[in-house]
Amino acid sequence: MLGYKIYFNGSKFVADNTATEVQTVPCDSTVSWMANKIYADNAVEKHNANDIKDVKKCKECGENFWQTDDERQWFTDRNMKAPCRCYSCRKKKH
Ligand SMILES: [Zn+2]
Repeated sequence: MLGYKIYFNGSKFVADNTATEVQTVPCDSTVSWMANKIYADNAVEKHNANDIKDVKKCKECGENFWQTDDERQWFTDRNMKAPCRCYSCRKKKH
């Protein structure tokens, strides 16, 4: 299946101009695919306006990952520090 890839380039979200093969990514990945270019551009705009603060850099592998509001709340409720490693790296530890 082809889609337009959206990803965080280190400073902001961008979308590819050509469709590429959709790949499976970890649940907290900042990479995603949209079925058409208009959806991709809308998502990029929304991410850059609202969600860019939720992107963190994994201190283990250097990948960018999302910190969702739900997840942040979960850690706050338990008086724990938000994770500084991505899902894949955290999973590897266990
Ligand atoms: Zn990582």
